[in-house]
Amino acid sequence: MRRHVKYPPPNSFYFTDTSPIPENSITMSIAEFEAMRLKHYINLTQKDAADKMNVSQPTFSRVLESAHKVVTKALIEGKQIRVIGGNIRFKKGFKGYGCLKCDYEWQDENASKEKKTDCPKCGSSKVYYLVKEPL
Ligand SMILES: [Zn+2]
Repeated sequence: MRRHVKYPPPNSFYFTDTSPIPENSITMSIAEFEAMRLKHYINLTQKDAADKMNVSQPTFSRVLESAHKVVTKALIEGKQIRVIGGNIRFKKGFKGYGCLKCDYEWQDENASKEKKTDCPKCGSSKVYYLVKEPL
């Protein structure tokens, strides 16, 4: 199962699976990083965080638990945390339109506020421009 994450960690600790692993460091998966970000940084509930990552709550809980172990070990043993990949997919924002009549939402990379279009489902012209940022 792929885990959805917003972006790789925005710091120099990020490296790829093929980079040599530096001395005095331990690794954390991006999924673990993302679990901590959603739960402890954005403060989502565990259920919402699990939904965001497209995993079940027990799975999320396991990922978070193993992230805590990495952080604990790093603190106690004075190691750097390196975040590496895993089976993940980066989430993209949603850009498109929504229909006021039938509530249908569809994606359109070229969507804009100015561009008018009709709902592909019900044909209504009462559509609104819709952008969703990944959380
Ligand atoms: Zn519609």
